[in-house]
Order: sequence, then structure tokens, then C-alpha cells
Amino acid sequence: MEEAKQLFKKLKIHTLLDLALITPMGYNDTTLSRAIVLGKVHTLEAKVLDSSTYGGKLRVTFILKQSRRRLSSTFFKVTPYHHTLFAVGSNHVIQGKIDEYKGYLQMSQPKSIKEVGKVTSKYKTVLKASEIASLVGAYVCEHHLYNEGLDSKEVATLMHIHFPTDIAEVYSDGRLKGDFVAVLKFVEAYNHLKKLRGKRADFEALAVLDGKIEPFIDALPFRLTAEQISVIKEIQQDLSTDKKATKRMVVGDVGSGKTMVILASVMMALPHKSILMAPTSLLAIQLYEEAQKYLPKAVKIALVMQGKKSKERYEEADFIIGTHALLYKKDLPQASLVMVDEQHRFGTKQRASLEALVSLGEKKPHFIQFSATPIPRTQAMMESELLDVSLITTTPFEREVLTETISKSDFPDLLVHIEEEIAHNHQVLLIYPLVEQSTQIPYQSLEESRGFWEKKFEHVYVTHGKDKDKEEVLLEFREKGNILLATTVVEVGISLPRLTMIVIVGAERFGLSTLHQLRGRVGRNGLKSWCYLYSHFKSSARITQFTQTNNGFDIAKLDLKFRDSGDILDGTIQSGQKFKWLDMAEDEEVIAKAKARLPKL
Ligand code: ADP
Ligand code: MG
Repeated sequence: MEEAKQLFKKLKIHTLLDLALITPMGYNDTTLSRAIVLGKVHTLEAKVLDSSTYGGKLRVTFILKQSRRRLSSTFFKVTPYHHTLFAVGSNHVIQGKIDEYKGYLQMSQPKSIKEVGKVTSKYKTVLKASEIASLVGAYVCEHHLYNEGLDSKEVATLMHIHFPTDIAEVYSDGRLKGDFVAVLKFVEAYNHLKKLRGKRADFEALAVLDGKIEPFIDALPFRLTAEQISVIKEIQQDLSTDKKATKRMVVGDVGSGKTMVILASVMMALPHKSILMAPTSLLAIQLYEEAQKYLPKAVKIALVMQGKKSKERYEEADFIIGTHALLYKKDLPQASLVMVDEQHRFGTKQRASLEALVSLGEKKPHFIQFSATPIPRTQAMMESELLDVSLITTTPFEREVLTETISKSDFPDLLVHIEEEIAHNHQVLLIYPLVEQSTQIPYQSLEESRGFWEKKFEHVYVTHGKDKDKEEVLLEFREKGNILLATTVVEVGISLPRLTMIVIVGAERFGLSTLHQLRGRVGRNGLKSWCYLYSHFKSSARITQFTQTNNGFDIAKLDLKFRDSGDILDGTIQSGQKFKWLDMAEDEEVIAKAKARLPKL
């Protein structure tokens, strides 16, 4: 047992199914060969006719029992053992690759086989061949596999793969049989889901939250979309118990109306307090303004930020909105609902301190996170084992954003178009790949191009990731600007209602999810908008397909599809769990089947 534990550790695996999923990279078959095919490995009965040494090498001539043909072999590293083993007149079953040289059969360094007619698996792991073989032999058995919850077909398939009696059972045309692959996909998904489920820890909640949401819903100037309503209902369900603190992630494209879900949740929490944390002060201010606009006047709202910018005393507030400054407030009142907006924007450190905010001894507040990074449905299905996931895949109004690829020759037309938009009191955003000049990248940097734009246009603003004043610049641009030159900082979800054009320079350098986030900045209020992907290169299938859809969930899927396509991608793509058999872009059904097999909670 102890030894097996060590081996599991060396293999970096934890479960029996992890072991069963280490499939052989090939097999060693000692079934006697029927016919000779040159260039292939054979197992043949043979008798030693002659044995001689020359130049340190041993040359053995065999007579093959079946064909009566002669075959000669040369051994290079010769030990006395070889001389004894291949003594003249001795009988063997030899195995090795057969070639022909000037009409004579040759087998270089054959093995003398002891056990004939056996198929053994060859594994490629960090372990010695004998160690992995005995580990698999000891643990991968029908009994254990059934215990893991597999059905008879799956058990039989895994047993065939590890312990075949005939290689043709497992392979056809040198490839693992299709229905075997299907089983491996299933086992891989099932094993992963089981592990995730094991990690989920639930706590009691501080309170049942069942405040009325109607005063808020009925006063809205628009009707909520079907998806907004269904997520709100899910949350009502979550909050209606204190047996289990909610852990939910609401994932919805930019502009899908997540703020309304946040505000509805605040209503449910009343008369208890809610806290909402946002990644930037701009966003916090925006949320504060929206909360004031849409929540009933009786709801007391406070804004907490660094320095003196805070509004209202939060001690008495029903709803406290803030930046990560919240995390450093010693005297935050107890809240029964904690929410995080744009959670994908928070770093690991901030997440850890956030954990503290939602931990209160044995009982915890209900916790809801909001993310604007659409994830593929497959990933959502997986992650929902750890926390509940709601997807909002539609937006309240169809955004009219035309995406086109452009190159240098289109530049004069682009300038005309920019002038037109500005004449309409609209705004234009230009995204550069770099702040300063670089020889690494065949595009102008922000600093190199600003002179051109500043000379040609009025009210040009410039900011970038390291700019200390970026929030002020963005705020001023929102009111007065025509053109904003920036790096990807504008990703952070601030709303620029007059923005109708974004030009992304060197678009092929960005991951699709980044491009989509950037594109989400324009057309927020239903104004017809444009996203121009500027590139020196002919557009790839990845970029072309991106121009054809505006749906973030489709884009998440495309991202999976093109992940290994060799395009230059930036670091924003989340490196998903790597599966050997399972294809996250295609295997939704397999995951659904595996989920259905999990034991009921
Ligand atoms: P998200 O946070 O998901 O990116 P927001 O909550 O900021 O999106 O919503 C985007 C815009 O859509 C806001 O101006 C908001 O007031 C508006 N909005 C939200 N829900 C609806 C709806 N059901 N009908 C019309 N407009 C809506
Ligand atoms: Mg939002």
C-alpha cells in the first residue's frame, strides 16, 4: 500500500481512474508470427545452427522452425551470458525486427522470449516498466472499476486496453478503436467531475434572504429579458435557505444586463445588508450611480473607495458598493450577501482577501460573482461542480457592431470614417499593442502615433495600463473626448455610451476573448458601431470567424477550437484543464452524460 502511494505520487495522480486513464503507448505481443513481413517485428521459433565471434561481436545463425529458412543475428554488446544462452543446438523463441540483406534474413539483437502467446502493455511514464506494470496489474481490475461507478461496457473497454488478449481487439489500422476512444472520453470527464465534486465545501448561510423584488422590478423603465429573470429566480432559490450559503457565478457577455441581477439580489437581501466589490473606482462609481437610479429611494446606498472619495457613511447603509478598499475596512458591518462584479479582473491576492470577506467562522454570507468572460458551455458544466453557474447568453437589445478586417491600404477611408463619427458627436477608440517603440512588433506604438492623431484631431486623449492617471483620463474622455488612444486597459468594464468605433491595431496578436472584450466597448446604447481589426497580415480563419459572430459564448468556443492553431495569442486566454481524450469544444454530450452519472448530492 505504502509503496503504491509513493508510485501514485511519482505519477502525480490521485485516483484509481487517473491510473486507469494512463493508457499503454503500445503493446508487446509474443504470439508466434504466421508469415514473415520484412521490416516488422516477429516472434519465431528458432534453433541455433552456428555461433561465432568476430571483432567483439557475436554472430548467431538460426534455422527457423516453420519456414526452414536461415536467419542471422548480430549482438553488439556481448556478455558470457549470450554465449551460454545461444549455444549451438539450443531452441528459442526469438523476437525482433526482420530485414533482408542480399537474400539472407536478418534480425538484429533478438530477444529470447520465455512466455509465448502473451500480450503485455507498454507504458510511458516516469516509473520503471516493471513498476507501472505491477501497479496497473494490482489496481486496474473489474472490481475496482465497477466500484468507481463505471458500467460493464466501460469496465470491459478499460480492461481490454490494459490487458488485451489480442491487439486487434483494441486497435484497428494502428489506431485505438472509435468506441474505445468514446469510453476514454467519458471516463476522463467523469473522473474530473468526481474530483471537482469532492472539492466543493458547503457552509451554512448567515440568513435566509427573501426580500421582495417587485418594488424594484415594477419601477424599471424596461422589461427584464427572459434570461435575466431566470437567473434572478435561481438566485431567489439560492437565498431562500440558510442551510447552504450560495456560491454562484453569473457569466454574461458585456452588456447582457448583469447589473440588474445585482440590484435584484440586493432587494432580496433586504432588510439584511449587501456588499458589492468592483475592480476599479470608475466601475464602482458607475454601479453606485445605477443603484441610485434604479433601486427604491428607501434603500440606503454607500460608496467606499480609497481616500476621501467615499460617499455616505457605510455603517447605516443597506447596500455598500466599493473597490478593493473594502477589504481594508476594519469596521465593515456584517453583510449577509457579498457580491463581486467583473470577478475575472481581480488578481489572486485580491481573491484571497476577498475570501476573508465572505468567511465568518462557521456560517458564511451568500456569495455571488459576476463575470463578463464568457466560458464555453462545456467548461460551465464542469465548473458547476465547484460552484453553481448561470449563463446569460443574450443581450437586452441587439447590438449593431460591424466587425471588419482592414489593412494599410484602407487607412485613408478609415480617416474619413473617423471624421464622420466625430462629426456625429460620437467617439473613437484606437487600441495599440504597445506603449513604446519596439523592434519586436511590426506596428507603431502608442507613443509613436500620438503625434499624428493629436495634430490631425482635437480632443485626443491617451492612456495605458501603467498610466497612474488613467481613471481621470477615461472620465475626462467620456465627457469631452473625440479620440482615445490606449492599450488594452479599456477592457475594464466602464461604459462609454458615445463610443461607436474601435480600431484594434495588430489585431492578430490578441486572443479572441480579448478582442471580444474590446469590441464590447462600442455600441453599448444600441448605436450602430464598427470594430476594425487592423493588420498587416492576411486574415486567418480564426480572425475571419471572429468577424462573423457577436456572441461571446460562440467566441469562447472558437477560442477553444483555435487554441492550438499556432496563431500568436496573448496571455489572456485562460489555460483550461488539458484533457487527453476529451475535446472541450465538441464533447458537450459526453460531459452531460458523465454529470448524470455522478452520485446525487
Ligand atoms: P453588463 O454588466 O452585463 O455588461 P449592464 O448591466 O451594464 O451589462 O447593462 C448594459 C446596459 O443595458 C445598461 O445600460 C442597462 O441599463 C441596460 N439594460 C439592462 N437590462 C436591460 C433590459 N432588460 N432591457 C433594456 N436595457 C437593459
Ligand atoms: Mg457590468
